[in-house]
Amino acid sequence: MSTDCIFCAIVAGDIPGRIVYEGETITAFLDANPLAPGHVLVVPSDHTERLNDLANDTVSEFYETVHDLVPATEKAVDAPATTVAVNNGDAAGQEVPHVHCHVVPRFANDDGGPIHAVFGDRPDLSDAELDDVADNIRDARS
Ligand code: 5GP
Ligand code: ZN
Repeated sequence: MSTDCIFCAIVAGDIPGRIVYEGETITAFLDANPLAPGHVLVVPSDHTERLNDLANDTVSEFYETVHDLVPATEKAVDAPATTVAVNNGDAAGQEVPHVHCHVVPRFANDDGGPIHAVFGDRPDLSDAELDDVADNIRDARS
């Protein structure tokens, strides 16, 4: 637990949170400033700053919880869709440095747009550059 982390404080019960799921390694609660009714945050119960740092024995329950809460949330607020996203790191706009997956219910004509709307101009990459990037990602995994 990090003493100055708001999400650690919610998991510990030190500050109130509208908890919707408590598992062995994962907790989920309502976002305090929701983008839509039913906006849920899924977090590892132990303080972890970035998705990259998520413990191996936490990864499955993390995704299983998202998988479970997507239909539950849609049903609860009668939403036909959800946007599911992680802002991973400062440059991506992560404001709370404790991993959290947003599950945001979406409605027709809610003006949210697709996640592609976050970006402006897209890079114009040649086939060779795309091949290089794919090679580099494969190499980085091994
Ligand atoms: P980020 O920009 O880091 O991906 O998202 C942080 C999210 O945490 C925001 O959607 C914000 O509304 C939510 N948030 C910030 N402070 C609190 C809090 O004290 N309680 C809860 N439940 N959510 C919070
Ligand atoms: Zn934390």
